[in-house]
Amino acid sequence: MPGYMRPCRYCGELVPPDSNACPICGKWNPVDELRCPKCRSPIKESWKSCSHCGQGLSVACPACGKTTFFGDHCQQCGARLMVKCQQKKCGFEQPPLGPICSKCGKPIAGGKK
Ligand SMILES: [Zn+2]
Ligand SMILES: [Zn+2]
Ligand SMILES: [Zn+2]
Ligand SMILES: [Zn+2]
Repeated sequence: MPGYMRPCRYCGELVPPDSNACPICGKWNPVDELRCPKCRSPIKESWKSCSHCGQGLSVACPACGKTTFFGDHCQQCGARLMVKCQQKKCGFEQPPLGPICSKCGKPIAGGKK
């Protein structure tokens, strides 16, 4: 239903259905389904692992270090679950899936060991 506003999953305000980020609270992916950080299949917050690729769905938050569901944001501190490659020419952002930047192949800070 194009044009219909949908409630943001985080703050509950109505936002356009194609929003990449909520214009009210600034969180990412406010209305679309939660998706696996690895294979992008739909996932649910009650799941322990992705039904499609088996990726574990709990992760240590790169910002606060606490364990959280591997969605778009840390459930503890609200930080976006992304780590950024520190290589000068790269700067690629990816979910904290592993210690290697998937773009340039160099070690990435905050990646899971
Ligand atoms: Zn919001
Ligand atoms: Zn998956
Ligand atoms: Zn956190
Ligand atoms: Zn990189």
